[in-house]
Amino acid sequence: MFAAAALAISLAVAPRPHVIWKPIPFGPRRKAEMAAYAEKHYGVHSWRLQPKVIVEHYTASNSFSSAWNTFAANEPDPELHELPGDCAHFIIDRNGRVYQLVRLDIMCRHTVGLNYVAVGIEHVGTSDAEILHDKAQIRASLELTAWLVGRFHIKVRNVIGHSESLSSPYHRELYKPWAHQTHADWKHADMDAYRTRLRRLLNSDARG
Ligand SMILES: [Zn+2]
Repeated sequence: MFAAAALAISLAVAPRPHVIWKPIPFGPRRKAEMAAYAEKHYGVHSWRLQPKVIVEHYTASNSFSSAWNTFAANEPDPELHELPGDCAHFIIDRNGRVYQLVRLDIMCRHTVGLNYVAVGIEHVGTSDAEILHDKAQIRASLELTAWLVGRFHIKVRNVIGHSESLSSPYHRELYKPWAHQTHADWKHADMDAYRTRLRRLLNSDARG
């Protein structure tokens, strides 16, 4: 009975999906830039991440390599002109391949107001609908997110789209000109559909 109980507990956590490790450079200089950014925007002088939120994005481009190259370059972002450059922890390609670019204990710049607590997941594509209807890509996305939810004890309501950033209870932005800055990727209605599917997947994992 004890073993059966242990088995039931282990099945309640989604399994780790296959992830291809393809790191972008994140050496001491970029870490120092990230810590300076975190101090200016969040009042936290650290580059260390303790995930409480997952933010879903899409790249608005058509290839994994162009997104990876942009994140690896570590140039000031074209919109807000700060360092370190934009990045995300994961990129999910259209074929469902999941690439990890950055360790999960390092902050990445992907969502104004939330980088100090958020894992960023990019999807290669140009709209929410395109990704929701790509069977391989959406399955990989849900499996990865389900695994992260279990690993970091993240609540499903804290799995959000970039466009929902301003209404997150974790949103914090000390630099006033950016206090209302967000993007349009992954709208609320599409994220509701995403969260419904995520809950279904998590429940099926819990049932074993
Ligand atoms: Zn985004």
